[in-house]
Amino acid sequence: MRELLITLPDDFHVHLRQGPALAAYSRRSAEHFGRVLVMPNVVPPLSSARAMDDYRRSAEAHLAASGSGTRMLPTFKLVPGMGAEAVRACALAGAVAGKYYPAGSTTNAADGVPDPDSVQGELAAMEAAGVVLSVHAEDPGAPVLEREEAFLPVLDRIVNSYPGLKVVMEHLSTAAAVDAVRSWPARVGATITAHHLAFTLDDILGERLQPGFFCKPVLKAERDRTALVEAAISGSPKFFFGSDSAPHPPEAKRSGAAGCYSSPVAMPLLAGLFDQAGALGALEAFCAVNGARFYGLAANSGKLRLWEEAWTVPAELDGVEPLAAGRVLAWRAGRVP
Ligand SMILES: [Zn+2]
Repeated sequence: MRELLITLPDDFHVHLRQGPALAAYSRRSAEHFGRVLVMPNVVPPLSSARAMDDYRRSAEAHLAASGSGTRMLPTFKLVPGMGAEAVRACALAGAVAGKYYPAGSTTNAADGVPDPDSVQGELAAMEAAGVVLSVHAEDPGAPVLEREEAFLPVLDRIVNSYPGLKVVMEHLSTAAAVDAVRSWPARVGATITAHHLAFTLDDILGERLQPGFFCKPVLKAERDRTALVEAAISGSPKFFFGSDSAPHPPEAKRSGAAGCYSSPVAMPLLAGLFDQAGALGALEAFCAVNGARFYGLAANSGKLRLWEEAWTVPAELDGVEPLAAGRVLAWRAGRVP
């Protein structure tokens, strides 16, 4: 049996939700990750230092209860009219990133940003305070499979207008986005999810409809997936892991909600993918080194063990269908105590 010991990974994009579910999702994330960058699209949105701090306290209490030592990296949600002063207050309260959702792009994004010009003061304040701009890079007005590519010119304008701003393009899904990220300066990085690396539109639509794979941005074609895998295994410091784990209860999923509960299976999936690509040695950089460096953080001190052992992803975890439910994965993962 082959096994691998790597520095404990970070998850630089996760939705821990709120209310009673927050406890289960926080504990689950703590099983494989040393730090979690938690997205702010809860209701009401985390768009002030006060709201961010209240949410942080409840999430951190659940992480602490897990006994894992896993830490939360807080974020705020950028909304028009928020003001530069509120951005500075969030930065002082420990925000590592502010999240830009184009208005109407995904879950709880109706109050997002219609145009970068509507948040000029806020972006300048983030640039000055050294807060990373995290972007859901899709143009909701474009056809669904073209939304990411359609947003690239907007992102290019932001990158060029704020020369000191660090930017993360979240959850890359296309070859065009990989090329764009490579072409931008070193202060622009990107997260890639396990599901965009492992699956394509055919997993959703190829046979029976599989809503478990439905997320935003929607999974794309095989040539896009191949470009994402090449970026992830390349060792380039621009590309790092963010699960975009986004659990929805079964009733929400039945009514069409976008999002996959991926954090419980992400590390086993990634180990299998990197192994298939003959690049197991590049897994640690992608999951545990590149993102930490981009965010200016030291590596985690803990370790994650990955070992080759076939197992079937259960139909249900924490009351939710996990990503790849029913599929057999070749690798398992567990934190070294
Ligand atoms: Zn997300």
